Amino acid sequence: MKEQFETESNSNVLFVTENCNNHCIMCCQPPKKCYDFDNNYRRNIELIKTSPKDVKTVCITGGEPTLAGDKFFSLIELVCEQLPDTDIHILSNGRNFANAEFVSRLKNVGGDKIICGIPLHSDYCGDHDRIAGAKNAFNETLLGLYNLAAEEISIELRVVINALNYKRLPQMAEFIFKNLFFVSWTAFMAMEHTGYAVKNSEKVYIEPIDYMPELCRAIETLDTSGLDVSIYNIPNCLIPEGFRRFAAQSISDWKTKYLDICDNCCQKNHCCGLFATSKQIFKGLKAL
Ligand code: SF4
Ligand code: SF4
Repeated sequence: MKEQFETESNSNVLFVTENCNNHCIMCCQPPKKCYDFDNNYRRNIELIKTSPKDVKTVCITGGEPTLAGDKFFSLIELVCEQLPDTDIHILSNGRNFANAEFVSRLKNVGGDKIICGIPLHSDYCGDHDRIAGAKNAFNETLLGLYNLAAEEISIELRVVINALNYKRLPQMAEFIFKNLFFVSWTAFMAMEHTGYAVKNSEKVYIEPIDYMPELCRAIETLDTSGLDVSIYNIPNCLIPEGFRRFAAQSISDWKTKYLDICDNCCQKNHCCGLFATSKQIFKGLKAL
C-alpha cells in the first residue's frame, strides 16, 4: 500500500480494517480478528489530508470497511470535504447494507460520489453462503443491493470466478438481468491466487481457459440485454477476440506484472497483465 496518494494511480486505497464478517473460501487477504480500527483511521486521515486534490477515485476497503461504523462514515465525510472532485469506491460484501438506515446515512454523507463494489458468488443462496463462509450472507447481500438501489447509489456487481461457481455463470447472468438489472455494471473477475485461494486451491482454483465458454455465455446474455458488463483480471490472450472489448485494466498498478513474452505482444498496452501477487501463472498465455 502507498504512503501517499498519487494523481495517476489506480490504487489510492483507504484500508479500514482486517476484520470481516464473511470468511470467503478464496479470500486473497484472509480476515483477522484484531482491534485495528483506530490505527488505520489515523493513517487514513493523514492520507486524505495529504492527497493531491485531483485524484480521480479513492477506494475504501478492508476486510469489511463498514464494520468501522462511525469511523467509516467519518472517512467518507472527510474525503467529500477535502477532495470534492474525487469519487469514492467502496469495496464491501454488502451485508451491512441490509440495514436501510445504514444505507440512508451512506447516501447522506457521500451523495452521488459513492460507487459500491459488492460481490455476488452465485444465483443460488447455498453456493453463495458456502463461498462467503457465512450463513445468510446471500439474503443480507441481496437486501443490501436493493437498499443501495433504493437510495440510487451506484453499484458495481463483482463476480469472482472460481471452481465452485463457474458452471452457473450463464444462470447468474439471467438472475442478474431479472433481479439486479439496476446495477451500473457487472464485473466478472479472475481470482487473485493468494491467501485462502492458495490454501483452498484444490477446491477453488480453475484456469480461465477452462471457464471461458461459461463466461462468454454470461457476458453475451448481459450484453444483449443492454446491461453493462466487464471482465477483470484476465489477460487479453486468454479471451476470445470478440470479447476483448469487455476487458478492463483492472489490476492495481502496484500489483500488476507482465511476463517476458508480453514484450512481443501487440496487446500489452490494452491488457490488464497478471497479478504479481498470484502464486500460479495462468495456462495458455501467448503473445498476440
Ligand atoms: S468479504 Fe472480502 S475481505 Fe471478507 S472474507 Fe470475503 S473476500 Fe475476504
Ligand atoms: S501476452 Fe502478455 S501482454 Fe499479451 S495479452 Fe497475454 S498477458 Fe497480455
